[in-house]
Amino acid sequence: MILQMQPKLIIHGGAGSSLQGKGGLIAVRNSLSQIVAEVYALLLTGASATEAVVRGCQMLEDEPRFNAGTGSVLQSDGQIRMSASIMDGTTGRFSGVINVSRVKNPIEMALFLQDADDRVLSDYGAAELARELQIPSYNGLTDLRLKEWTLERQDNFKRTMAGVVAEPEMAESSGRGTIGVVALDGYGKLAAGTSTGGKGFERIGRVSDSAMPAGNYATSQAAVSCTGIGEDIIDECLAAKVVVRVTDGMSLQEAMQRSFTEAKRNNRDFGAIALDATGAISYGKTCEVLLAAYHNGENIGDTLEWNDQELIDNW
Ligand code: ASP
Repeated sequence: MILQMQPKLIIHGGAGSSLQGKGGLIAVRNSLSQIVAEVYALLLTGASATEAVVRGCQMLEDEPRFNAGTGSVLQSDGQIRMSASIMDGTTGRFSGVINVSRVKNPIEMALFLQDADDRVLSDYGAAELARELQIPSYNGLTDLRLKEWTLERQDNFKRTMAGVVAEPEMAESSGRGTIGVVALDGYGKLAAGTSTGGKGFERIGRVSDSAMPAGNYATSQAAVSCTGIGEDIIDECLAAKVVVRVTDGMSLQEAMQRSFTEAKRNNRDFGAIALDATGAISYGKTCEVLLAAYHNGENIGDTLEWNDQELIDNW
């Protein structure tokens, strides 16, 4: 397998308001860097960007610490409904599922839909597809999520979203915890994938950005996955905006900088990870913490202790 270029990889486990508790930070760092190492090794063996994105999303969905797959937050009625999408930058195809229940890895359904005529399915249709594909019924509920929901119920759901990083030291302090993977493979191809349990405590039928081009988008030039308040991501059309700016000739850094400057001005609350076809890696946030890690071909780095000054240096 001869690679034509050095693969690049960036993943996230959500964004939040602060990262307190060393135990939390170290545990998140270990889990993100293990996943980066394993998925990057796959890219080195010649895996495609889409294959790497799916594998990375599966691993992050299976990690109860993050709000996707196992460990998803509960909605206002106490149910888990998950959303996931993939965009293959080479074929230019977006596919996904919205508010699907009782499956272990929603990203696998998004992958199946890459080749379907109808590429985005919501609750009832997604359940039908899960049945057709004979996906085993799976309950991704964890004790921590149930406890969190019960506490909120006692408080009459005053919070607008869950503490979605399932780490006791971090749960109270963190904001959101969707997962995402963006990969550039050894043949110069890009893909992005995003998967979420949603905001937590939301109304039934609320649609997350994670299965929309606003939250997950890729072309042959750039790929982006977002996390944070879905409504803010949709209002900025963040992933598609960054990718279109790069496709129209802006550098990735410039496109991210301009998009996040606008977002700050509009008081948005989110973060994003991005790659371009030249191998540039970028990340941005308007919230305090972005739980992201990357492999730049030489080594693994992360954004867990990244502050606003470094943000400016990064740009
Ligand atoms: N963006 C997700 C949503 O609003 C939440 C998250 O990123 O944690 O559904």
